[in-house]
Amino acid sequence: MSSGRDADPACIFCRIVRGEIPAQRVHEDASTLAFDDLNPQAPVHVLVVPKVHVATVADLTAEDGALAGQMVLAANQVARAKGLAERGYRLIWNCREEAGQSVFHLHLHVLGGRAMKWPPG
Ligand code: AMP
Repeated sequence: MSSGRDADPACIFCRIVRGEIPAQRVHEDASTLAFDDLNPQAPVHVLVVPKVHVATVADLTAEDGALAGQMVLAANQVARAKGLAERGYRLIWNCREEAGQSVFHLHLHVLGGRAMKWPPG
């Protein structure tokens, strides 16, 4: 696992950003890419990732405020494009093992299209 900012040749999401692995892209801007989750947990399940390699949300620094903000804005754009803006949606950052993070390239889950339960499992 790399926590640096250079593209990690072995990182699956870096490889999607580079176009080496196929993904259903739904949004792209200068600093982020959004694509459908391979194993969707809701009718809409999109992942927003930074184009640079950041391992976890805990690795964001004070200099990353704009990047973190852009990830949220990109998620909102995805939600609008998918028709979720009014009915609602859930944004999730799983941080490290106990929270269930399985891919160590920062990603923001955008989930919607069905009623969500609380608390999450
Ligand atoms: P997390 O468990 O929070 O780390 O989420 C990782 C997510 O990445 C899971 O929901 C996986 O289904 C998803 N995922 C893993 N590999 C791919 C892939 N190649 N394309 C799209 N989504 C993927």
